[in-house]
Amino acid sequence: MLDLSVRDVKYLPGVGPARAELLEKELGIKTLADLIHYYPYKYIDRSRLFNIKEVDGTMPYIQLKGRILSFEEIGTGRGKRLVAHFTDGTGIADLVWFQGIKFALSKYRPNTEYVVFGKPTIFNGRVNIAHPEIDVEANLNLSEMGMQPHYNTTDRMKKSGLNSAAVRKLVATLLGLIEAPLPETLPEWIIRRENLMPLTEALRVIHAPKDVNSLRMAQHRLKFEELFYVQLNICRYSAARNRRFKGLMFNRVGDSFNRFYNECLPFSLTDAQKRVVREIRRDTCSGVQMNRLLQGDVGSGKTMVALMAMLLAVDNGFQACIMAPTEILAEQHYANIGRYTEKIGLKVELLTGSIKGKRRQSVLDGLVGGSVNILVATHAVLEDNVLFARLGLVVIDEQHRFGVAQRAKLWEKNNNPPHILVMTATPIPRTLAMTLYGDLDVSIIDELPPGRKPIKTVHKYDTGHTEIYAFLDEELRKGRQVYVVYPLIEESEKIDLKNLEDGYGIISDRFQGYSVSKVHGKMKPAEKEAEMQRFKRAETQIMVSTTVIEVGVDVPNASVMVIENAERFGLSQLHQLRGRVGRGADQSFCILVTGYKLSEDTRKRIDIMVDSNDGFEIAEADLKLRGPGDIEGTQQSGIAFELRLANLARDGALIEQVRNIAKEIVAADPELTHPQNTILLRELRRLKKSPFDWSSIS
Ligand code: ADP
Ligand code: MG
Repeated sequence: MLDLSVRDVKYLPGVGPARAELLEKELGIKTLADLIHYYPYKYIDRSRLFNIKEVDGTMPYIQLKGRILSFEEIGTGRGKRLVAHFTDGTGIADLVWFQGIKFALSKYRPNTEYVVFGKPTIFNGRVNIAHPEIDVEANLNLSEMGMQPHYNTTDRMKKSGLNSAAVRKLVATLLGLIEAPLPETLPEWIIRRENLMPLTEALRVIHAPKDVNSLRMAQHRLKFEELFYVQLNICRYSAARNRRFKGLMFNRVGDSFNRFYNECLPFSLTDAQKRVVREIRRDTCSGVQMNRLLQGDVGSGKTMVALMAMLLAVDNGFQACIMAPTEILAEQHYANIGRYTEKIGLKVELLTGSIKGKRRQSVLDGLVGGSVNILVATHAVLEDNVLFARLGLVVIDEQHRFGVAQRAKLWEKNNNPPHILVMTATPIPRTLAMTLYGDLDVSIIDELPPGRKPIKTVHKYDTGHTEIYAFLDEELRKGRQVYVVYPLIEESEKIDLKNLEDGYGIISDRFQGYSVSKVHGKMKPAEKEAEMQRFKRAETQIMVSTTVIEVGVDVPNASVMVIENAERFGLSQLHQLRGRVGRGADQSFCILVTGYKLSEDTRKRIDIMVDSNDGFEIAEADLKLRGPGDIEGTQQSGIAFELRLANLARDGALIEQVRNIAKEIVAADPELTHPQNTILLRELRRLKKSPFDWSSIS
């Protein structure tokens, strides 16, 4: 059988070395298999021809049949363009090229009957089509061109004539080479039972559909496969892990937990907090190691839940550790936990990079000797010389960049891996969580503690600073503190820093009676932390910063968040930033400042922020607006996967379906050794390029 994955795309007729290099550089297409899995992004009906005289500027795409009368090169340098005057007898249209002029001149001739396809605009009263697709009329059979596939190509590719039409031709050539069916990538029994289109047919149809129905079937089959293998991999490694390790047992609810609950808890838990504590209880008594993701909006009280889980560990003779992403957060947790547990007489210690010498040694001794009950730490805990006597639970707080390798390190801290609780305020929609974290069970705190006033969010244009500053005056006068945040995006770091510096200058001038802090990513961590601490202690009243303050810092007295250039932030980031205020009893405000001209997407983002305080609603909207591509941690699922067709925002039902099938398979045939499953094992191996042993970690 033809194995497309070992055939270099270079040798496909019509490609050659130069185009092969472009395909690889621009699209990552190296082999024939890569090419056949490069799917169209849309399909356009090309059975219809238009007359030039009926064309207006509102039509999406049109097709004309006629001849080129003459060529004209206009302008010089960067403004240079090529215009072909084209007629079909009903009028004249201008075909325009800004790039690939030479190529167009060499390829197209006057007085040949062409079919021209593209998006029309009206310019000086004339129909214009920029960078049209042109075919010799005699080579086309319009009645058969129902659904024409379109492929994404880059500017560099277009310049060399490797546009969508050219890719389409290459794919057609490739499909022509495939005589016998390709090796099937799903077992026969799944194809039959789930009523899926066979692979080879699906590939043919997706590149050259005859009708909408069969196209849907083809897309469904290919989506199914993409999602299925991710889920199968996840189910397999979590099953393997559960077979290999027994979960530590937290059977007892003892003194620490009870005394804390009855004597120290300064408020009553919300129902959501209670539910999550019960879920954790159930996990830690199940005999299976817990891997739980706790999602809760900023301020929903995750730390309290974490603390109670840690007390359960302590009651059962284990040590617990909570890990924070920064020193300031670790110190914050250390102070809070110390305060809460003072009465119970537990030993709580702090371990960060700045704790050195004798103090560090004494913490390390206490851990390995077993006298420390709870450790609050940063990444410093991952170092090899940090050893525990009996580590039973690790809580990982707000670690967006906490990859699989780091989690693996935690496992080594005990012969039997500790229970793991990952906490995040970045709400991950359920479908995405299932794909990214797969085997992590998900708990959700969907309720804020009582008495919180929802943050009021408003949108202002950057011409309105006078008014904004007057408002800040009022709040400052009431003794509140204020954040002013500027974007920092790496490509334009210099400009951004300048914006921040300018902003800092303006604000220091305008608010002379107050002290102003400044924090940005280019500062040394120690300086940054010192400045944050000053703000926390209210020695400064205004904090001007880049997004470094995004995660977790708790300054209840800060009640206003001004976000400058808000158009440059994603929704989730805006929500995270906003979550820095609204932590105290005062009414808090978030002011989103943008320029006057906004794209439609930006306007939607701002509107959602103004309308909603609900992190999950916002996360879902975000996923729909941007797609899941740039959501952090796409590599954390244990299998580097690329979804070409499936969409985590839209395909929730399909994800559930394939997950159930994957679970069923792993339960019946954990090693996938059954003959009917050999294809599964082969495909998993092929998909897992990494040598990492995914089975041993969460
Ligand atoms: P996050 O989920 O963002 O980590 P925290 O755990 O920092 O939230 O809690 C935010 C604030 O709410 C803290 O000051 C905490 O003491 C308080 N809090 C937590 N749970 C409750 C509750 N049930 N009732 C009242 N206040 C609470
Ligand atoms: Mg927190």
